[in-house]
Amino acid sequence: MGERFKIVLLGGSGVGKSAITLMFLQGTFLSEYDPTLEETFRKTMTIENKSCLLDILDTAGQESYTTMESRYIQNGDGFLIVYSVTSEATFQKVSKIYDLVLRVKDMDSFPTVILGNKSDLAKERKVTLNQGIELSTQHSVPFFETSALQNKNITESFSFLVKILRKKRETDLI
Ligand code: GDP
Ligand code: MG
Repeated sequence: MGERFKIVLLGGSGVGKSAITLMFLQGTFLSEYDPTLEETFRKTMTIENKSCLLDILDTAGQESYTTMESRYIQNGDGFLIVYSVTSEATFQKVSKIYDLVLRVKDMDSFPTVILGNKSDLAKERKVTLNQGIELSTQHSVPFFETSALQNKNITESFSFLVKILRKKRETDLI
């Protein structure tokens, strides 16, 4: 039996969670927007010559935090918290979501990667790269700027999270 990890995508509405998921799974870009889309996907991935099975939950962040708490966070092994660089409001939401993860897991830190998506939309950018880096430093959580449209840093984000998850599993076993 190989490794298996449950990865949950969290973040504001319209930030690109579904587009990131679809690009990662199929290599195609989702151009239409359906905010209610919510699904679990399964993908085998080889990272550092070792294969693992990923259960990926693409959430529709429309619900209250309490509902999110019970439904998504409790079962997740690791999280991708996504904001859009074109939206200050979704950036502000990241800390709230990560705090909730820590509260639900009752931990001081938990395997998470922050993604600043839509990096291709230069003209519409509201959140700078430095703001993203600062946020990442503040929470000691790794960070990538991504573009689902350009397939930029998408696979990298998932593999980085898996590497963190592997490390955690090793230390948990000791
Ligand atoms: P979700 O609500 O977080 O799942 O957001 P979606 O994945 O449905 O994306 C919302 C809208 O943003 C859709 O119209 C996508 O095509 C668009 N979108 C998502 N990611 C990107 C990106 O990296 N660049 C650009 N330009 N548009 C994106
Ligand atoms: Mg979606």
